[in-house]
Amino acid sequence: MKIVFFEIDKADQKIFSSALEDDDVYFFHDALSEKNIQKVIDAEIISIFVCSFITKSIVESFPSLRLIATRSTGYDHIDLKAIAQRNIVACNVPVYADIAVAEYVFALLLSLSRKIYDAYYGVLHEHSFSTENLQGFDLTGKTIGIIGTGNIGKHVVRIAQGFNMRILAYDIFPDKAYASLMGFTYVDLDQLLATSDIITLHVPLNDSTCNMINSDTIALLKKGVYVINTARGGLIETRALIDALDRGIIAGAALDVLQEELYTRDPRLLFFENDSSDQAKTVLENYYVIQHPRVIVSPHNAFNSQQAKERLMQVTIDNIRAWKQGTPLNVIKKH
Ligand code: NAD
Repeated sequence: MKIVFFEIDKADQKIFSSALEDDDVYFFHDALSEKNIQKVIDAEIISIFVCSFITKSIVESFPSLRLIATRSTGYDHIDLKAIAQRNIVACNVPVYADIAVAEYVFALLLSLSRKIYDAYYGVLHEHSFSTENLQGFDLTGKTIGIIGTGNIGKHVVRIAQGFNMRILAYDIFPDKAYASLMGFTYVDLDQLLATSDIITLHVPLNDSTCNMINSDTIALLKKGVYVINTARGGLIETRALIDALDRGIIAGAALDVLQEELYTRDPRLLFFENDSSDQAKTVLENYYVIQHPRVIVSPHNAFNSQQAKERLMQVTIDNIRAWKQGTPLNVIKKH
């Protein structure tokens, strides 16, 4: 079968080549786009990561396509309606980076709370051993508001308890048994926003969560809150985040994901869009955010631990093999 992998580095290519040696396998380092699919439009299976957008027009470009194996948990980059119309199956990797992402949240949080980047920058670039302006705050006793208590959010709960934090959570499907086992409280979103010292996002990006942190919800925040986003950039309206940072409502933010992440990585891709003005505006806003002294940005790296990556690769191989054997695994269903 012709299988094409997009957004894949050299080391991972070797693993997939040997696991799928009976197939005709092709690799692209770049994300899938109208630009690079011409040589592989006869693919039956494609495997993508989060910057490869499966739109209706992309689906139409692959007449033989039958399986999309995304190497991610989130699937907001796949138009599920468009693939359903063509009976194309999509599968994901539901749980692989739950621990990796939860631990990364605390790496980011501690970087903010103890100004680790500023401290290191001063020593490295200014040979400054002064601790002036480096005072941080203890996590103990602070209230952390966890939005989304699925696989990742639950590990965030567990780790936050180790830091002796007060935990509030919001989820459309609260796991009350887990809350009583772990001793934390579910509240509504408004209450979480109004009372948390730190807010961390762990919901998928979909119609109900898109821009959930916007100028209206920011108006509810406690002044001086810290915001961490390792889920999807589209959960936060970038312009509203900038205003809140500049007005001191949000004291600091750590973002592993950005709105319009693909175009922010490679703005040249905007040249190929018919009307790219909204995306271009967001890209400019992102550059402002990236430069902001109270913001830390990382390149969608939260999943990237050795253990998570090994699970990701193995489940993707299993997903492809299972589908070929007629017993698909981890099939994404539209909610
Ligand atoms: P999950 O499906 O296990 O949990 C998501 C939780 O969000 C569920 O409990 C669900 O009930 C809740 N939820 C859904 N819609 C909601 C809404 N409108 N309001 C409130 N709660 C809602 O997912 P997960 O494994 O915990 O992952 C969460 C997200 O993290 C993924 O969707 C993905 O976008 C992101 N992610 C990022 C990385 C990274 O490297 N940065 C890696 C893995 C996952």
